[in-house]
Amino acid sequence: MESVASRADFRYGGRVSVPSSWINGHPVATSGEMHRVINPATGSAIADLALATPADVDASVSAARAAGPAWASSTPADRSAVLARLATVMAANADTLVAEEVAQTGKPVRLATEFDVPGSIDNVEFFAGAARHLEGKATAEYSADHTSSIRREAAGVVATITPWNYPLQMAVWKVLPALAAGCTVVIKPSELTPLTTLTLARLAAEAGLPDGVLNVVTGRGDDVGSALVGHPDVDLVTFTGSTAVGRKVMAAAAVHGHRTQLELGGKAPFVVFDDADLDAAIQGAVAGAIINSGQDCTAATRAIVARDVYDDFVAGVGEVMNKVVVGDPLDPNTDIGPLISAAHRARVSSIVDRAPAQGGRIVTGASSPDLPGSFYRPTLIADVAETSEAYRDEIFGPVLTVRSFTDDDDGLRQANDTAYGLAASAWTRDVYRAQRASREIKSGCVWINDHIPIISEMPHGGFGASGFGKDMSDYSLEEYLTVKHVMSDITGVSDKDWHRIIFAKR
Ligand code: NAD
Repeated sequence: MESVASRADFRYGGRVSVPSSWINGHPVATSGEMHRVINPATGSAIADLALATPADVDASVSAARAAGPAWASSTPADRSAVLARLATVMAANADTLVAEEVAQTGKPVRLATEFDVPGSIDNVEFFAGAARHLEGKATAEYSADHTSSIRREAAGVVATITPWNYPLQMAVWKVLPALAAGCTVVIKPSELTPLTTLTLARLAAEAGLPDGVLNVVTGRGDDVGSALVGHPDVDLVTFTGSTAVGRKVMAAAAVHGHRTQLELGGKAPFVVFDDADLDAAIQGAVAGAIINSGQDCTAATRAIVARDVYDDFVAGVGEVMNKVVVGDPLDPNTDIGPLISAAHRARVSSIVDRAPAQGGRIVTGASSPDLPGSFYRPTLIADVAETSEAYRDEIFGPVLTVRSFTDDDDGLRQANDTAYGLAASAWTRDVYRAQRASREIKSGCVWINDHIPIISEMPHGGFGASGFGKDMSDYSLEEYLTVKHVMSDITGVSDKDWHRIIFAKR
C-alpha cells in the first residue's frame, strides 16, 4: 500500500483511495460499503475506502490464528528484534504518520509531532525491550513429591477495537504488548480514523513482522466491530472507547467466554487546595482541559477548588482560555483544532447549552468560531451543581466545569463522587495533603501538581465505569499472557503416596 500522505497534500483537498483492510501481510480491497474519511478541520473528504465485510473479519481471524503458533514460539529476542525495527521504520516515516493523524483527526500538528507520533514510537521501543523480560516465577518443590514451575504463554488471537481520539497511540498501546507477549492481533480502528492503523500494519510488514501476525479490518462498530469481538475463534478482546460501547463489547465477548480488557471513559477531578501554586494550577487546568480539544479520556473536566481561592481560579482560567488559539491544525501556532465531527460538536454544544438551566455559569466559550470545520471554543462553566449533566457526564470537548469545596474531606469526597475512575490530579504544596489525596482518590492515576503526562514504563487504566486492565508498562503484558502451572512428579514411583486416599487396599 502506498502511503496516503505521500500521494496527497491534505491541505489542498487531496483525496486518495486506501485498502479496506490489511490481512495476512497484504492490503485487501473488498466490496464492502464505500466510506469517506473526513478532515474535521475542513469538512472535506481525504480518503475513500470500502469498509471490510464479515468475510474479511473471518479471513483476518483465520490469518491471525494460522500465524499464532510460529509467532508464539519465536524467541523473545526474535520478537524484540522485529519490534525494534518497527520503531526505526516508524521514525523514518514519522512525517507520513503526522500528516495522516492531523488530517483524519484535526489535531494540531504540534500535538501530533511532539506527542502522538514520538509517544507511539517510544511505546514500540519499550515493548521491544519488554519482550525479553517475560518470565515465570521460580521453579520449586511445593510438595515433597513434585516440582512446580510456571509458564507464561501467549493468550492467543487478540481482537482489538480502538477509538478516534488518538488513533495511532491507542493502536500501539494495544497491539505492541500483544505482539511482545507472542499473541497475534486483528485490530479494528474507528471508521472515522483508519489511516494510521493501516499504515502501522504496512510499516510492521516492512519491519519484518511475519504475515498474519497483525491484521487490520476497517468498519463500523455495530457490524464489523461486533463481528470481531463476538468471533468464536478469538481468545481475548481488548477495547478502548466509551463506557456504553465497552459494556456491549463485554457482553458480545461473554457469549464465547472471551477474556476482556476495557479502557473506557473518564471524568477526571482536578482538586486545587488553598495552598496550591495558583498560577501553576490555572495553567495546568487549561492545558489539561483543552488538550486534543478535550477529546482525551484523562482530560481535566471537574475542577474542585478550595473556596478561598475559587474566585481567583475561575478568573485566571477564564483569562488563559480566552487566549487559546483555535484554528487550522496545520498552523504551528494553533493550540486546538476542531472536534472530531459536526455531530460530536452538536452533542458537546447541546450539553453546554443546557448547563445554565442546571445552575452552571458560563464564564467563557460556549461558542464556535466562524470556520468551516467542527471547531468549538474552550469553555469554562463555574458553579455547576453536583447533579448537573455537564459535571457528571463525559462531554469529550474542551469544557471545564468548576465547583468549590469547604475543607479537605469535602474536596476529596467530591473528587470521588463519580462512576468513573481513570485519572485525577491534586494541587498542593503540602506533602501530607498530597499523600492523602493520592491515597484516597479512586482512580488509576493520580498526578500531584500536574495533569496529563504519561510514560511508557507506567500503567494506564481505570476502575469502575472507566474499565479494568492496563495499557502501557509491564503490567499491560500481563493482559496478553496466560499463567500455566506445570507440576512434575519427581519420585518415579507408580504407587504414589497420595493414592492412599483413592485406594482403600494398597
Ligand atoms: P466509541 O465507544 O464510540 O467507539 C470506540 C470503538 O468501538 C470504535 O472503533 C467503534 O467503531 C467501535 N464500536 C462501536 N460499537 C461497537 C460494537 N457494538 N461492537 C464493537 N465495536 C464497536 O468511542 P469513540 O467515540 O471512538 O472514542 C471516545 C471514547 O473513548 C471516550 O469515551 C473516551 O473516554 C474513550 N477513550 C478511553 C481511553 C482510555 O484509555 N480509557 C482512551 C481513549 C479514549
